[in-house]
Amino acid sequence: MLKNDTNECSELGADNMKQSWGTVRDALRASVGDNNFATWIEPLELVSLDEGVARFAAPTTFIGDWVSRNFAEAIRREFARAGIGVERLEFTVTRRRGAAAQPHAAARRPARAQPEPARGHDELPGAPLDPRFTFDSFVVGKPNELAHAAARRVGEGAEVSFNPLFLYGGVGLGKTHLMHAIAWELQSNERGLRVLYLSAEQFMYRFVQALREKNVMNFKEMFRSVDVLMVDDVQFIAGKDSTQDEFFHTFNALVDQNKQIVISADRAPGEIKDLEDRIKSRLQCGLVVDLHPTDYELRLGILQQKAEAQARGHDGVEISPGVLEFLAHRISTNVRVLEGALTRLFAFASLVGREITLDLAQDCLADILRASERSVTIEEIQRRVSEHFNIRLSDMIGPKRLRTIARPRQIAMYLSKELTSRSLPEIGRRFGGRDHTTIMHGVRKVEELRASDPQVAEDLELLRRLLSS
Ligand code: ADP
Ligand code: MG
Repeated sequence: MLKNDTNECSELGADNMKQSWGTVRDALRASVGDNNFATWIEPLELVSLDEGVARFAAPTTFIGDWVSRNFAEAIRREFARAGIGVERLEFTVTRRRGAAAQPHAAARRPARAQPEPARGHDELPGAPLDPRFTFDSFVVGKPNELAHAAARRVGEGAEVSFNPLFLYGGVGLGKTHLMHAIAWELQSNERGLRVLYLSAEQFMYRFVQALREKNVMNFKEMFRSVDVLMVDDVQFIAGKDSTQDEFFHTFNALVDQNKQIVISADRAPGEIKDLEDRIKSRLQCGLVVDLHPTDYELRLGILQQKAEAQARGHDGVEISPGVLEFLAHRISTNVRVLEGALTRLFAFASLVGREITLDLAQDCLADILRASERSVTIEEIQRRVSEHFNIRLSDMIGPKRLRTIARPRQIAMYLSKELTSRSLPEIGRRFGGRDHTTIMHGVRKVEELRASDPQVAEDLELLRRLLSS
């Protein structure tokens, strides 16, 4: 239930209430997991608790909605465990001063207090769009520039130039973000396009429901009446025969009408197991672009942007130089993990009233850092690098100075320095007893090349990916 007003904190037992919410929150963190907690529970503020009704302030309608649909049961349960009977949860949307969690969304849609599904689309059974996922908040780097450009083009809503747009990539690389951004963009233009965004799972759910309620005709009509259809995580329908079948027909009908389709998946169409061949080939007909794993620069860019947003939400929290670089370097997994780390850091720092220093980051994020710690050995690096450059493993440690051998060797030295915690002398020993100054020279050389030679940069990124998977 959502209302757009603010509740005063009920005077009575405010301390008590705070305390029990603290207990409940701790329990929730354990039961819903750190990521969910950081995204959904942490932003909530308990404003009152009486007569079995817990009222929360949520920063956006979307968050309130989502929590009430997905976590209400868990919240009630944890309250019950803490000895407090809660029958109902209510969510109000607060526009906190300086709450800049979605500055872009707010700036671009000034007429609306909160972004909401576009007018006239209420009858479309789509999923809600996250107001934070806009083009403005999407950081572009080499790994995602193509996907971003294609998404932009579709977002312009001009003529359909490629159909479908198929976006794929690993978890947390921004597929959903780009899809929502496209939808926001299309809905903000005045042509009144009917945009339907939903996950493949929801597509299936709707379809099964239509079968059960015997109104498949309505289902078909509804899906065929949209201007733009966006289906997220399409790999989900693999192996689900009748859903695939229906999807195929919907897809064809829309393509025939020259309506835009946007699809995402965790892998390329051809690699989705148990997906019918006719669907695979249909999906390959348009533009297929992938989101590559993030590189250091992109991670740093994303961190800088998110840190700014966080800083606006946590008045007065300072962050020491070097912390973001450290995180970009050490957390190489998906962007969601990066975001979670940052959210936690800011929350913690503002709680204890301290500046975010390297020490604090190391303490506060020990678990995340440990989880993304690479356990690569120097031997493994040497093996991978020699395979990649097609040289003999023995040449890694041998004396040859030929450039075709010396260069890969230096690359292996560089990766050893970067991906393991070995010291330079130790690395030297594994490279045939070379001096630590030789290693240092090699590392520097590769650093230079990496900046000046795109081929080297690409080789490094590829090797790093191979080694950390
Ligand atoms: P996917 O759907 O590919 O699993 P999401 O789109 O859900 O990933 O992205 C995970 C999180 O990372 C989201 O909060 C999203 O906003 C953020 N994110 C991913 N890529 C970027 C980017 N390039 N710039 C800003 N935020 C990003
Ligand atoms: Mg997604």
